Amino acid sequence: MSGKPIRKIVIVGGGSAGWMTAAPLAQRLPPECEITLIESPEIGTIGVGEATLPTIRFFNKALGLDGADFVRKTKATFKLGIEFKDWGHIGNSIFHGFGDYGPSIENRSPHMHWLRMQGLDARFPSLDEFSVSGVMARNMRFTPPVGEQASASNAYSYGFHFDAGLYATYLRDYAVRLGARRIEATIVEVVLHPTNGFIEAITLHDGRRIEGDLFIDCSGFRGLLIEGALKAGYDDWSSQLPCNSALAVPSARLAKLTPFTRSTAKAAGWQWRIPLQHRTGNGHVYCNSFISDEEAARMLLDGLDGEALDSPRQLRFTTGRRKRSWVKNCVAIGLSAGFVEPLESTSLSLIETAVGMLIENFPDSDFRPELADEFNRQISIRYESVRDFIIMHYKLTSRTDSEFWKYCANISISDSLCHQIELFRETGRVVIYDKSGFMEPSFIAIMMGLGIKPKTYDPFVDLMDIASLRRHFASVHKAIALTVGNMPDHTDYIDRHVSA
Ligand SMILES: Cc1cc2nc3c(=O)[nH]c(=O)nc-3n(C[C@H](O)[C@H](O)[C@H](O)COP(=O)(O)OP(=O)(O)OC[C@H]3O[C@@H](n4cnc5c(N)ncnc54)[C@H](O)[C@@H]3O)c2cc1C
Repeated sequence: MSGKPIRKIVIVGGGSAGWMTAAPLAQRLPPECEITLIESPEIGTIGVGEATLPTIRFFNKALGLDGADFVRKTKATFKLGIEFKDWGHIGNSIFHGFGDYGPSIENRSPHMHWLRMQGLDARFPSLDEFSVSGVMARNMRFTPPVGEQASASNAYSYGFHFDAGLYATYLRDYAVRLGARRIEATIVEVVLHPTNGFIEAITLHDGRRIEGDLFIDCSGFRGLLIEGALKAGYDDWSSQLPCNSALAVPSARLAKLTPFTRSTAKAAGWQWRIPLQHRTGNGHVYCNSFISDEEAARMLLDGLDGEALDSPRQLRFTTGRRKRSWVKNCVAIGLSAGFVEPLESTSLSLIETAVGMLIENFPDSDFRPELADEFNRQISIRYESVRDFIIMHYKLTSRTDSEFWKYCANISISDSLCHQIELFRETGRVVIYDKSGFMEPSFIAIMMGLGIKPKTYDPFVDLMDIASLRRHFASVHKAIALTVGNMPDHTDYIDRHVSA
């Protein structure tokens, strides 16, 4: 026999996580299920989180959002990937694009065949030339993928850069339209059931008591419910991911909007540049054991491409994740569940995943612990695979020009990440542990970009006739150049179709 259905959901927090949770729940749950979201105007939101992964499009699509309207209202630009400057060594540039390096050939990954060709002729075009998103980004082009049949016109994907505050408002309007209730107040107490320890209610600063069956903690780093009340515990990853501070500052909009995020490695961290239609988002992520806040602020301002529109805003964090995201009748989503660090813009995608998993494992009022266990198991796989992917950037660089980079060279890594790196180095093969996370082309982009050249390749590729292989690569290369050459400029595309 199953328990009674959940009838009252209380979401604590109205940042991206809160509204990204409220919107799909309001869309999917029956009207008898009350959704109340509480946000504190005094505390506010973190106000960053502007670069996304392509998965955000599927999230928006599942909500039935109009793509063009969303881009206009959130003042978004399109993102084909991330350019990493000065990461492998000072002066180098890597592009982690969304998409692959061409179609597989005889069922073998294109990079394996490319390794063979490159071994035969060092002047063979670089692997990047076979990435449509990479070539588009280099040429500042953008148009959405078209066509059903696999071709250069659709062998790429994209995400967005958007104004995080406007996105939360956009989803808020959506959720409220579907019946979600919004309360602006500060929570001062979390009331636990005296015997089973479940959350019964929360008390607001004006004395109101809000009861619920299911509580979703989207209260940000403070983890008001999951940690403050339920003491879920935190796995601290800062010995492996040492950045613990950020300074964020907007600057004047770029005249030519880049269809990619830029991440530039610095002496004790890295700086982001995120182009929006009305301004540029910038930030310096660093470890304050290696550089002072003042020096970090100066570096950030010196590295801007336009006039600063404000003074830098300080943020602190501890990389890691909540030991359990779901405890009793409380599920943590967003920063309250953990924070890896923003290098690959993974946080919003982890929110999408968590909301999806909550819907998949939706409880009834019995709250069977097995559901929470399953949710926690899946979430830990996602967070740990993201963590390892990001650690790889710091671990594989050959930079040793500062104490920070020397520290990074000695970071201890998990056995699974070590295996991924060594397998690639020795054989060119990429092992993927988390099939819902970064896939083979992403690993190739970062590992090769940071200097790992596989020693060997899949022996099956040698079975293919070399002349046909040459013809194949030449035709893919030509198709990409032609297709991208006919695409509109990114800024023109925005001005013409989706200008805010
Ligand atoms: C430096 C930095 C850069 C980042 N860049 C990216 C990026 O490019 N891409 C990406 O995907 N992610 C990024 N992130 C992560 C991203 O910002 C967050 O994942 C996202 O904004 C979700 O935050 P949140 O909603 O969990 O928390 P918050 O935005 O902090 O919201 C917390 C909410 O809880 C409410 N609240 C808290 N306490 C109380 C209380 N007592 N009573 C009532 N309400 C309360 C607050 O009012 C607020 O509404 C970045 C994070 C950092 C730190």
